[in-house]
Amino acid sequence: MQTITTAAELRHALEHARKSGKRVGFVPTMGYLHDGHMALVEASRARGDITVVSIFVNPTQFGPNEDLDSYPRDFLRDEQLCRDAGVVILFASEVCEMYPSGFETFVDPGELAKPLCGAFRPGHFRGVATVVSKLFNMVQPDVAFFGQKDFQQCAIVRRMAIDLNLPIEIVTVPTVRETDGLAMSNRNRYLADEERRRALAISRGLFAAADKFHSGERGVENLIAVARDQIITVDRLQYLALVDNLTLQPLEGSVRRTSALCVAAYIGSTRLIDNVILPLPTES
Ligand code: AMP
Repeated sequence: MQTITTAAELRHALEHARKSGKRVGFVPTMGYLHDGHMALVEASRARGDITVVSIFVNPTQFGPNEDLDSYPRDFLRDEQLCRDAGVVILFASEVCEMYPSGFETFVDPGELAKPLCGAFRPGHFRGVATVVSKLFNMVQPDVAFFGQKDFQQCAIVRRMAIDLNLPIEIVTVPTVRETDGLAMSNRNRYLADEERRRALAISRGLFAAADKFHSGERGVENLIAVARDQIITVDRLQYLALVDNLTLQPLEGSVRRTSALCVAAYIGSTRLIDNVILPLPTES
């Protein structure tokens, strides 16, 4: 595995790698890798792609009062995990190369960035779309892998790839969870033991609603109420919404298309997000 820190070196290394005729699979991350990230790497490896992982804690997607400075980092451990997992190139750009002085061009996502997390994290998805498109331009992957845990991010990146004519297949990988159901996230490490136990209300609520859905319930309010029964115990609920899988607009009445039940909630001062997909054939 090669660890690379500049776009120029990356281009050179990729030219060489592409000569093997293989496709390039790309996994963008902010590092401090866990099994959720590694599932994306495995998905890329399983397709026989040359796997490129990036690690970049992107300042433009953090709000002024968010955890940019305290965001966990352990580069050497990440490097070892990538090496062991068969990653071919680990790309760790510096902030000063990603955003050199004078940088002023951003990618601004539209309606998809407005609901859910977008309503509470102004500018977040603008930062995400900007860095992902910059990374796409640097890596020029054939396929890129994103986790379903960041459901709105997946929708925005898919839309961006279409709108900006990026010849990149976007693959969504299911959320990897701890054995008790908590969605893996770097932010879980902020939770004290007692908070960690209470955080389970989030996945339990989502699973209870999904069970209800799979046993035939289609009423939007009823499904949300089932989840809310459990999730009510969080310290602060930002949103609990049943939205259309593609438009991310809230559903009313009954579920007639594939949808997603999405939640963002605080346990103590830690903000956690999670979701479940409620699948339905489009026409039903
Ligand atoms: P992050 O480092 O948090 O920006 O995440 C990098 C990528 O890993 C994103 O596509 C995330 O959606 C994905 N990811 C993070 N946590 C999980 C998880 N628990 N399961 C699956 N994918 C995840």
